[in-house]
Amino acid sequence: MARLSGKTVVLTGGARGQGWREAGLLAAEGARVVVTDVVEPSERLPDGAEFHRLDVASAEGWVGLADGLRRRFGVVHGLVNNAGIVGARGKQGRLRDVRLEDWNRLLEINTTGPMLGIQALAPLMTDGGSIVNISSVVAAGAHMSAGYGVSKWALRGLSRIASAELGPAGIRVNTVLPGYIETPMQGDSPQRFVDAWLSLIPLGRTGTPDDVAPLVAFLLSDDAAWISGAEIAVDGGSLGHAGLKIVADAMGTGHA
Ligand code: NAD
Repeated sequence: MARLSGKTVVLTGGARGQGWREAGLLAAEGARVVVTDVVEPSERLPDGAEFHRLDVASAEGWVGLADGLRRRFGVVHGLVNNAGIVGARGKQGRLRDVRLEDWNRLLEINTTGPMLGIQALAPLMTDGGSIVNISSVVAAGAHMSAGYGVSKWALRGLSRIASAELGPAGIRVNTVLPGYIETPMQGDSPQRFVDAWLSLIPLGRTGTPDDVAPLVAFLLSDDAAWISGAEIAVDGGSLGHAGLKIVADAMGTGHA
């Protein structure tokens, strides 16, 4: 099925992890994928994809990308704001100890980057355009990494505002909230961190990029033509119980 045939999609942070998998699936679905990142992918890009170096925090970088796309294609159909950094997880992730430069860097990449992307590329989008912002389940609660949590909450807010503002032009904006996904970002996670996440997941396993990519492809496609301003978790059920799983676990569920 080539649901994205004829569409040009810009994807940030596509050199590895979730972005890399998304690039592969979007290309397989027929899109011309402009994969962007601060580092080059270590593997060969799929047919239909091309690489463009871009730091999402650079306004000039976005303007340069948009100018090139305008000249070559005239129109952009999709934008996936996927690039992100996680910041300090230990004491320096906590509010009392967070360093101002780390806080600013998290907001710059995780929130301002998507805003700059929308500013640069929405003018190239026409009726049917679709923007997908990759937030996180941490943007539905109080995560221990303050700067990361705030940056992803802010991205939810940005998505809602963009969906209201761009809707009249026929451009949809949606947010994906992944749970714990096995990617290089989680490469050095201590086992107790993984176990804590697992304890929240009714489906009993952590996620992979294969769990997220199909949702991104769907949201970019015309199958999602009337879906905008939505926030969709891909998290094995972790948000669904709003933290109450701990009670069921304490009482025993009667299931293995
Ligand atoms: P990852 O670290 O494997 O990949 C992130 C990519 O973003 C990398 O290729 C990196 O080079 C790129 N990047 C970093 N800073 C950049 C910048 N300034 N400009 C352009 N590219 C930049 O992480 P991932 O797990 O694939 O994360 C993808 C998105 O999903 C991120 O926004 C992340 O916050 C979010 N997320 C991840 C998880 C998880 O558990 N892995 C959970 C929820 C949300």
